[in-house]
Formats: sequence, structure tokens, C-alpha cells
Amino acid sequence: KEELNIIQGALELRTKVVEEVLTPLGDCFMLRSDAVLDFATVSEILRSGYTRIPVYEGDQRHNIVDILFVKDLAFVDPDDCTPLLTVTRFYNRPLHCVFNDTRLDTVLEEFKKGKSHLAIVQRVNNEEKGPFYEVMGIVTLEDIIEEIIKSEILDE
Ligand code: ADP
Repeated sequence: KEELNIIQGALELRTKVVEEVLTPLGDCFMLRSDAVLDFATVSEILRSGYTRIPVYEGDQRHNIVDILFVKDLAFVDPDDCTPLLTVTRFYNRPLHCVFNDTRLDTVLEEFKKGKSHLAIVQRVNNEEKGPFYEVMGIVTLEDIIEEIIKSEILDE
């Protein structure tokens, strides 16, 4: 029974697209690029429990410019009040973007090739002022694995 479910989940990777499994931007824990890594901010990051945190510029959460890995904070002393930009510029983690209609098997292949296991999901918005790319949310390897095994993976 369980095995059959997993096989079905694996087959569905060819028909489902990232838009169906993404974490919407509104639910993403993110940081503003002008944040300062003081005690309050670092505590908030640790409390969020996420290992990768998108960084956006200005008031526009859509405008993701960097990804902070929590492990990048290993050498950061909160007492130094280091600007977030100092850390993100140093590590310069690549941003991996995919379109909303990318099939899950395609994204899984990309994740398997390494680089990042988190991708920013974009769509082409054709409303009003003509076409522009709009960020919809994020998708990670875990979201895809959950589709295969068809159940929620609870975090440690
Ligand atoms: P983590 O290693 O941070 O726990 P995972 O890759 O295991 O992240 O993903 C677990 C779930 O959390 C997925 O549904 C993913 O879309 C979501 N997720 C990952 N990073 C964030 C974030 N910064 N804010 C909100 N949700 C996130």
C-alpha cells in the first residue's frame, strides 16, 4: 500500500508543476537587506528554524537579492552588530530561479545536480504595465520529496 503510494507520487512528478507545491512568498521567513545582525535579529533567525533565508531589498518582498544560510552566521558575533550585507556579500550564495510552470521532475533534476536545494519561483505577470517577472514563493527539495512520499516531513 505504502509502496504503491510512493510509486504514484513519483509518477506524478511528471504532471505536477512547482506552483502547486511552493511555499508562498507571504509565508516565507525573510530578511531585509539592510538588517543588522544584532542579538535580536540573530535570535529571530534561529527561532525561525529555517536553514536558508531569502534576503530582499527595500520594502519589496518580491525583490529577492540574496540568500543567507544560517551556517554563514558561524563567525558572526552579535555584539559586533555586523550588517547583513557584509555577510551576504562575502558568501555570495547563488540565487536559483525557476518558473511557476516548471515540472517537478525537472526541478528535482536541477536539485540533484547540486548547487542549491532551494529555488525562487517566478511567473510572468502580464497585467497592466506589461509583462514582468513576479516572485511567487520558494520551493525546496523537501517540498518535492513530500510530493513523492505524499506525507508531511516533520522538522527536527
Ligand atoms: P529547512 O532546511 O530550512 O527546514 P527545508 O528545505 O527542509 O528547509 O524545507 C522545509 C519546508 O519549509 C518547505 O516546505 C520549504 O518550502 C519551507 N521553507 C524553507 N525555507 C523557508 C523560509 N525561509 N521561510 C518559509 N518557509 C521555508
